[in-house]
Amino acid sequence: MDFSEPVEYRDLRDAIRAITDKYGCAYFAERAAAHEPTTELWQDLAHHGFIGINLPEEYGGGGAGMSELAIVCEETAAHGCPLLLLLVSSAISGELLTRHGTVEQRREWLPRMACGDTKVVFAITEPDAGSNTRQIATTATRDGSDYLLNGTKYYISGIDEAGAVIVVARSAPEKLSLFLVPTDAPGLIKHRLPVGISLPEKQHTLHFADVRVPASALVGTEHDGFRQVFDGLNPERITGAAVCVGVGRHAVTKGADYARTRSVWGPAIGSYQAISHPLAKAKIEVDLASMMTAKAAWLYDNGHPAGEASNVAKYAAAEAAIGAVDHAIQLHGGNGLSAEYGLVPHWGLARLLRIAPVSREMILNYVAQHSLSLPRSY
Ligand SMILES: Cc1cc2nc3c(=O)[nH]c(=O)nc-3n(C[C@H](O)[C@H](O)[C@H](O)COP(=O)(O)OP(=O)(O)OC[C@H]3O[C@@H](n4cnc5c(N)ncnc54)[C@H](O)[C@@H]3O)c2cc1C
Repeated sequence: MDFSEPVEYRDLRDAIRAITDKYGCAYFAERAAAHEPTTELWQDLAHHGFIGINLPEEYGGGGAGMSELAIVCEETAAHGCPLLLLLVSSAISGELLTRHGTVEQRREWLPRMACGDTKVVFAITEPDAGSNTRQIATTATRDGSDYLLNGTKYYISGIDEAGAVIVVARSAPEKLSLFLVPTDAPGLIKHRLPVGISLPEKQHTLHFADVRVPASALVGTEHDGFRQVFDGLNPERITGAAVCVGVGRHAVTKGADYARTRSVWGPAIGSYQAISHPLAKAKIEVDLASMMTAKAAWLYDNGHPAGEASNVAKYAAAEAAIGAVDHAIQLHGGNGLSAEYGLVPHWGLARLLRIAPVSREMILNYVAQHSLSLPRSY
């Protein structure tokens, strides 16, 4: 077993850091407060080939894997700019289109995603179907050679920045299918869904009122959506974990910097164990989560079952990030809540990633059932 990081991964980290540092955490905090997208950073990263690093080379991507995309997620976050839509457009939608999209869908969308021209977002959650995807009520009904989509999705991130959305819909009583729907499709109505945390990405409720799509909008095999969607969920969990590792690293760094320099009674506050121990604990937890994230990405890239590791990584990283940001805020005193120090948006994002894309409780259910063979409780 070799734990040393390959030189090309270190170079990738340096390159991402150099780009992200041009923008920095003040840029992110300002965009997050305004709920405005971090378009310049996204396009800068895309221009250098990093947004589509996991997409196939023949479609303009980098031909690399989840390990490399996770590094992009981690380093942007570690340098103050966590990018939620990497989980959605590059990870889940990118992987679903690569694995299950038709040649025409791949040709039309992957190059534009890779070069930063557009994004493809993902809609599975409904008001009555979040953790329980079996309750999905959005329907896709055959009408000649077309499908008609009807129903409601909510909390859909980034639809205002996207050219298309992959929609999970019920195509038969017990079957789901995936559809690639242009965001300007007639009958697709979007309403902003304000959230209380500061994020650059906006969330929307989507109403599908007889949205007509051709059969060519089907992603993969009809009625096989439930199985196919799992091919995108592990990448989403791995990249979610990677963002959390980056958020945790950012918080630990900012916390340590402040603790070394802030003096209240004479010595720097970092000399008090009430300050240093939680920070040391946060660093340990972030480091552990980082190792599990790298393992999950490696398993995925090498074609091994990655469900358990992806879930464990996402759980550990979200918990580590929340703990790290919370303590960084605490040791900043009042400055921890200031806009200037920019920590609160990172707390909001880490807090979100305990709930989404899969909640902490559903991960514990998964581990209890699948890893420990305990009976299902629900
Ligand atoms: C800011 C934001 C962005 C999002 N972006 C997207 C997006 O782009 N696309 C998309 O499709 N969705 C998105 N979501 C939705 C997100 O994935 C869901 O909120 C998440 O999956 C949880 O579903 P829910 O909110 O319906 O919670 P529920 O399923 O209603 O769960 C409520 C609570 O009960 C717990 N719970 C549920 N079942 C069990 C059980 N069996 N055992 C123990 N506890 C249980 C849950 O863990 C949770 O704590 C986003 C959400 C937010 C807040």
